[in-house]
Amino acid sequence: MGLTEHIIMRELDIPDISDFAVYRRHGGWEAYRYALTEKTPADIVQMVKDSGLRGRGGAGFPTGMKWSFLPKGVYPRYLLCNCDESEPGTFNNHQIIDKNPHQLIEGVALSAFAIEANTAYIYMRGEFAAAARTLERAIAQAYEAGFLGKNILSTGFDLDIYVHRGAGAYICGEETALMESLEGKIGQPRLKPPFPAVAGLYGKPTIINNVETLANVPRIVEKGVAWYRSHGTEKSPGTKCFSLSGHVNRPGNYELPFGVPLRELIESPEYGGGMKGGRPVKIIIPGGASAPWLTADHLDVPLDYESLAAAGSMLGSGAVIVLNDTVSAPHLAYKMDEFFKHESCGKCTPCREGTHWLVRVLHRMVEEGHATAADIDTLHGIYRQMAGNCFCLLGESAVMPIKSALQLFPHEFEALVKQSSHRNGHHIPLMVH
Ligand code: NAD
Repeated sequence: MGLTEHIIMRELDIPDISDFAVYRRHGGWEAYRYALTEKTPADIVQMVKDSGLRGRGGAGFPTGMKWSFLPKGVYPRYLLCNCDESEPGTFNNHQIIDKNPHQLIEGVALSAFAIEANTAYIYMRGEFAAAARTLERAIAQAYEAGFLGKNILSTGFDLDIYVHRGAGAYICGEETALMESLEGKIGQPRLKPPFPAVAGLYGKPTIINNVETLANVPRIVEKGVAWYRSHGTEKSPGTKCFSLSGHVNRPGNYELPFGVPLRELIESPEYGGGMKGGRPVKIIIPGGASAPWLTADHLDVPLDYESLAAAGSMLGSGAVIVLNDTVSAPHLAYKMDEFFKHESCGKCTPCREGTHWLVRVLHRMVEEGHATAADIDTLHGIYRQMAGNCFCLLGESAVMPIKSALQLFPHEFEALVKQSSHRNGHHIPLMVH
């Protein structure tokens, strides 16, 4: 079940496609020109709604529905493109921008037209310095060609696009923390509701979509809803650019229609090319570090939002991390929760304290070799107190690695306790309530 035509990673084989003139010669910016001169904003919103496009940042929320939550007659409105891409294992936004920046800028411009916004911001992860320069160069070309700026193509539509670089905090990918950061404040999440569509940047109606989501829009407008829906499944139409990493022979970004089984992504010579050294699959994390873990029993699960949810995990940002039998589950949980602890913004107690204690207990068990049976109960206790109680998804995500490890591989924690009791190590008790 391969892909005959790429939607997201399109035209990557065309030399210099990042140049305005080359992109334009290959039909680029045409969907935007067509929309501005022959369609109304409402037509484009309807098209995106009918296409079934779902947000690719992780939540899979229907894009057209999100756009239609904007309160009528309230201006200004803002479009934000979330390019903070920080979920461990997720690395496709960067490639889309590096290779084909005009595809994203056209998607941003078209979407801004659809939601009647005259200002759009592309919020880039701080480390993406080169990609930010690429985008800025491409945006300057689009201004020069009259596709951005004032009275675009003599239609009366004005649009300015700004690139803003963050400072490398994972939490700034959370949409409300991103807006705080863009406003010059500390990147910490806001309470939802109100959702950004109602009160977002500077308190105004704001639509925030991921890079990959917006990169789909020009193709939907150009080729139509029926063509778009001929890819993928009924509830998850289109394609997804999966970032495949871990112990596979060919890690990388692979665009596949939704619904292809995990096995195909991992084993096909065109994609993952199988496991390195032929070792068995032990853990599959299908949607970045925030997703519950799967095992080799799930290799035939189709890669779409519904099937992965039914399997007990989630598609998330489409970062598929595949690990072999050399990996220790407690060690993996420790490293992942160390990431979440480091990135916790500290605003809410369950996340700030929970990630701290998870890492402290795991460090002692895994790194120092001092593990007791009570530690296992403590770990269960910590994640249970965090789950459902954190202010935003960061803390909830930190629950996933430890919960998955304890549920799927309890014997590995018990083995740590056994090994520890055979040593004459010095045990340092930890108090956790
Ligand atoms: P969410 O489900 O809260 O919201 C999804 C989107 O829909 C948001 O834009 C939200 O504003 C909008 N929305 C939802 N209900 C709405 C309503 N009633 N009215 C108006 N708008 C509404 O999820 P989220 O916090 O935006 O994203 C969570 C996902 O992000 C996680 O599942 C994770 O996979 C992913 N993630 C991705 C990265 C990355 O680097 N790409 C990093 C961390 C997390």
